[in-house]
Amino acid sequence: MPDPVVHTHDVCIIGGGLAGLRAALACSTAGLDTAVISKVHPLRSHSVAAQGGINAALGNAEGAEHDDWEAHAFDTVKGSDYLADQDAVARLCRDAPAAVIELEHMGTVFSRRDDGRIAQRPFGGAGVPRTCYAADRTGHNLLHTLYEQVTARGTRVYEEYFVTSLVRNGGRCTGCTAIAIPSGELHGFSAPAVLLATGGFGRIFSRSTNALINTGDGGALALRAGVPLKDMEFVQFHPTSLFGTNILITEGARGEGAILKNRGGERFMERYAPASVDLAPRDVVARAIETEISAGRGFPGGFVHLDLTHLGAEKIMERLPGIRQIAMDFAGVDPILEPVPVQPAQHYSMGGIDVDIDGSTRLPGLYAAGECACVSVHGANRLGGNSLLETVVFGRLVANTMIADLPSLPPPDGALVREAVRAEKSRIDAILARNGDERAPAILRDMKAAMFEHFGIFRDETTMREGLAAITALQERCRRASVGNKGTVFNQALHRLLELEGMLLLAEAVARGAMFRKESRGSHTRTDFPDRNDTEFLVHTLASLDDGKMAITQSPVTLGMFEPRERVY
Ligand SMILES: Cc1cc2nc3c(=O)[nH]c(=O)nc-3n(C[C@H](O)[C@H](O)[C@H](O)COP(=O)(O)OP(=O)(O)OC[C@H]3O[C@@H](n4cnc5c(N)ncnc54)[C@H](O)[C@@H]3O)c2cc1C
Repeated sequence: MPDPVVHTHDVCIIGGGLAGLRAALACSTAGLDTAVISKVHPLRSHSVAAQGGINAALGNAEGAEHDDWEAHAFDTVKGSDYLADQDAVARLCRDAPAAVIELEHMGTVFSRRDDGRIAQRPFGGAGVPRTCYAADRTGHNLLHTLYEQVTARGTRVYEEYFVTSLVRNGGRCTGCTAIAIPSGELHGFSAPAVLLATGGFGRIFSRSTNALINTGDGGALALRAGVPLKDMEFVQFHPTSLFGTNILITEGARGEGAILKNRGGERFMERYAPASVDLAPRDVVARAIETEISAGRGFPGGFVHLDLTHLGAEKIMERLPGIRQIAMDFAGVDPILEPVPVQPAQHYSMGGIDVDIDGSTRLPGLYAAGECACVSVHGANRLGGNSLLETVVFGRLVANTMIADLPSLPPPDGALVREAVRAEKSRIDAILARNGDERAPAILRDMKAAMFEHFGIFRDETTMREGLAAITALQERCRRASVGNKGTVFNQALHRLLELEGMLLLAEAVARGAMFRKESRGSHTRTDFPDRNDTEFLVHTLASLDDGKMAITQSPVTLGMFEPRERVY
């Protein structure tokens, strides 16, 4: 093999979504030679699909004048079912107003009130309207804003590079290997600081609102490099995805006044959350819908109605134009005239790469931020609007950590990375040399179905035990899987198989975490252990790989501001 190409930078950021770009902006502004690596063009990252908004206690809405970061923190901790680390939540909420104003100054076109201030809409689990938005295309606006800023500062963007492994030098991370997708060549990246900002892993489930690229690669890269994954059992199911395709219908619709109704036309949320009704947090609403459907009060096929008709054409066209278009294009339903058929679907990964409050992993030189990381600010259930916030707040903070650490990190080591590229090339060549009938798409389909069936909204020991056995069998099939396309240029078949190997690891981590946690908390609902159990399980779970075997341990939760209480809405 000729000498592999190795790119050398101060900082390598894997991921071009909001977290990666916000970190890149800070690093480039500080004068660091910064690279962003992304398997798609950064503007195609899943952040672009965010609809409903971003939270900050600006106090702009009527009746919310006294809103402050402590109130935001309280709602977030209560929403998390008291599992979030409260020091991290304080950072998130304290920094939120400045983060939103900064984005506005950079050019994000937020929707406005008549008096010119940024408009704020009510969101689930929030005591007051606190969610800033750009109609129902907030992520699109934010991502374009940050991409402009990053390119203006000369950040080097490697788009269509698929990262396949992290490079370790003894006890530290010193780079990564990546396939240049158009040519198929394997390149090395050498940098003293490497940031994982690779987004969520929603696509391990069959029903998901996530983009097809949300395969959780960063979690698998970290796990294989010896970094544990935290709280993986906490998977958010969004109450309202469009029946048939599971495209998201934003919580912003209910924020603007839309109502959930069962087959009998009943506003059933009044029975489940008398005070918050349709704007209870997502775990509560998703369970309620699922219960209605199982009790035969849903519509045939398994959905309920989201009724927007009373909002009127003008409000829908101004505040929710995107979801109207989605409902018309993908379900043939115009929300101005008829209710929208919706059902719960996987939406967000609360768990992720274990990092401390500064974004450092326990492997020096490796950092993580955004949805792939678990700081943890969302605990057992994330509030809508807090994830976009997390990407920009912790994207900036982790950049500051890397900037501060850089002088003490050893310089890049090109020879070591070249060696790692050669080893990775042999591994990939061995996969390409396999033959046989077992192929990734069939295993992927079976994994997604198994995850939704055995680790969905309601869980119990028997179902989960069967689920874990199914995952183990799929891992075995994956070890035999081959690709028909032996070529180099855009070898999507190979990339899907490499992603699948990682997804099966994450699926196992979700399964083992869920079986370990013998209680119900936030999004993790066990019918065999229906109550929260703070005595034994007010802890984070950590999944780590040791010699190929996965083990679950636990670590303490940081309390402080708010004592755990019963969660009532
Ligand atoms: C439909 C939808 C709507 C949402 N709406 C909201 C909302 O209104 N408010 C809110 O707060 N949250 C919302 N969320 C959640 C929020 O959008 C995400 O959590 C957040 O945008 C994630 O940002 P990120 O930067 O961590 O990752 P992403 O935006 O997912 O970016 C991940 C990046 O990593 C790259 N990558 C991944 N693997 C590799 C690899 N192996 N090699 C190279 N590159 C790789 C990808 O190319 C991509 O650039 C929504 C989510 C969805 C799915």
